[in-house]
Amino acid sequence: MINFRNIHPRKRVALVAHDNRKAELMEWAYANREMLAKNELYGTGTTGKLLEETLDQPVIRLLSGPLGGDQQVGSMIAEEKIDLLIFFWDPMSAQPHDPDVKALLRLCVVWNIPVASNRATADFMFTSPLMDEEYVASQIDYSTYLNRKV
Ligand code: PGA
Repeated sequence: MINFRNIHPRKRVALVAHDNRKAELMEWAYANREMLAKNELYGTGTTGKLLEETLDQPVIRLLSGPLGGDQQVGSMIAEEKIDLLIFFWDPMSAQPHDPDVKALLRLCVVWNIPVASNRATADFMFTSPLMDEEYVASQIDYSTYLNRKV
């Protein structure tokens, strides 16, 4: 069985970038500032601070990623409080919080959350007509798992 979840036209967008990719995310965010302004923005600590400076738009700031911010984004996804994730993670350096990064990406699949890990995907996502519309996301029904015999 499939469940459904409504994603409203004004979306709750989380943005995260590892240090080596923060400049790239800020460039992308500035180029997309008009579309970003239509949505509610969340960011991990340092990314969120840089975004506020770049966009001159309020960003709800969570903890810094390595201090728990990635896990906060993950828990908000599980509680249906985040609709989209832009996560420019660094493919060339090990991170102290690699397990948190993996956990966050995993929860995006569990909850069918659109994720952009690079600029091209973020461009395709942000030029989609669905950005301005209500979208009905399908959601795997986990009731069999929840009701399993243990
Ligand atoms: P930061 O965290 O925005 O606080 O730098 C990002 C991350 O490393 O996940």
